Amino acid sequence: MFARRIAVIGTGYVGLTTGACLASLGHHVVCADIDAAKVARLRQGEIDILEPGLPELVAEGTAAGRLSFVVGAAAAVQQAERPVEIVFLCVPTPMGEGGAADLRAVQAVIDEVGALLPAGCVVVNKSTVPVGTAAVTAEMLGRDDVAVVSNPEFLREGTAVHDFLHPDRIVVGSSSQGAAERVAALYARLGAPTQLTDAASAEMVKYAANCFLAMKLSYVNALAGLCEQLGADVLEVTEGMGYDRRIGQTFLSPGPGWGGSCFPKDTHALLQIAESAGVDFELVAASLRQNTTTRALVVDKVRAAVGGSLAGRRIGLLGLTFKAGTDDLRDSPALAVAALLRAEGAELVGFDPAHSRAVPGVTDGIDVVDDPIDAAKDAAALVVLTEWPQFRTLDWTALGGVIENRVVVDTRNLLDGDILRRAGFTWMGLGRG
Ligand code: NAD
Repeated sequence: MFARRIAVIGTGYVGLTTGACLASLGHHVVCADIDAAKVARLRQGEIDILEPGLPELVAEGTAAGRLSFVVGAAAAVQQAERPVEIVFLCVPTPMGEGGAADLRAVQAVIDEVGALLPAGCVVVNKSTVPVGTAAVTAEMLGRDDVAVVSNPEFLREGTAVHDFLHPDRIVVGSSSQGAAERVAALYARLGAPTQLTDAASAEMVKYAANCFLAMKLSYVNALAGLCEQLGADVLEVTEGMGYDRRIGQTFLSPGPGWGGSCFPKDTHALLQIAESAGVDFELVAASLRQNTTTRALVVDKVRAAVGGSLAGRRIGLLGLTFKAGTDDLRDSPALAVAALLRAEGAELVGFDPAHSRAVPGVTDGIDVVDDPIDAAKDAAALVVLTEWPQFRTLDWTALGGVIENRVVVDTRNLLDGDILRRAGFTWMGLGRG
């Protein structure tokens, strides 16, 4: 394998995983971030995010001299020994005005490094960006001797390292065949199906995949509501559906609505992209509306469970992150449901295995505790909002001893209803007939 000299700009979930994994594949990687304190921590081997295997890979890469950290994109592309060959952009592209992706971070990096890139270098966009961004990036760069490639990332938080090293596919799009092949070659050792395509199609693959998954979840959440009305069990229904290989078993679990750092912003961005192209993508709009409905239905369920009014009632929340296995609270459906409960006057106390204390500006209005017993104490009900597997083995007898009403609303259908009933609880799942 030919070891490349790589710069990765942005050391968040995607950038740090990309940098550490590429270093583990034998490449020489310099990771840059605008956040100097974060870079200082990374240099000490401290990883801010919860990602299994990532601290070990960072330590290995650093010890082997193949992975280092600098402040600012310019420092990463101006490497002393050999010129940088490939620059990955892994910066945020949050929801901007009108739902469109905000490309200011991409623009800022291009402004910073554009003139510094050595001739023959390839700029790779791994951030999720609207169709046409590769072409716009090439224009911003204004360099005939630097190619732009789109290489969307499909990793899932909580399994980021595994997903990066065992991808379902690698998608690489560019108008430069040579540049696309160079980027694809970085992943050659992974043996994944590799699609070389044009940049616009590669950019679209990411939105198309994420919006499809969001739509699948909205479908199953709507189905859960219907099952509940009709006395059918959504788990039986989705099991039967999932045996159909055209549907598959994954992404068929109902919940309190979908969220996280990608689906909400990507669905809004695709809608905005479609609107500017004069295309009515009603399916995606309906999926977003269903998501709002799902959250409201969860609140209805909790309100009913505590006797019809949430005002002044203490509600214990189990789980705050947007899914299990991650510490990420961005656009968490758990927090969205919490906000709705609070708006009706509920007093909230929350427990999450990834957060032992409050996160200012994010968990405001929730008394975050570090023990599930404290979340249950004097609560009118417990609400399971994140599918942390450890909730299955909580000591329900002990929780039953401190709670005011032995009621659990399980929005993830995570717990064993029989165990709870034996401990004297009323257990309510979603869509269980
Ligand atoms: P993140 O917020 O975790 O990390 C982004 C990092 O970029 C931060 O550390 C930030 O300080 C840094 N940064 C911002 N501006 C910078 C600049 N000018 N120079 C250097 N560093 C800068 O974001 P993320 O979750 O890793 O997502 C990055 C991109 O990847 C987004 O477009 C996202 O949609 C996409 N993506 C995310 C995931 C995911 O699961 N998180 C999966 C696939 C794709």
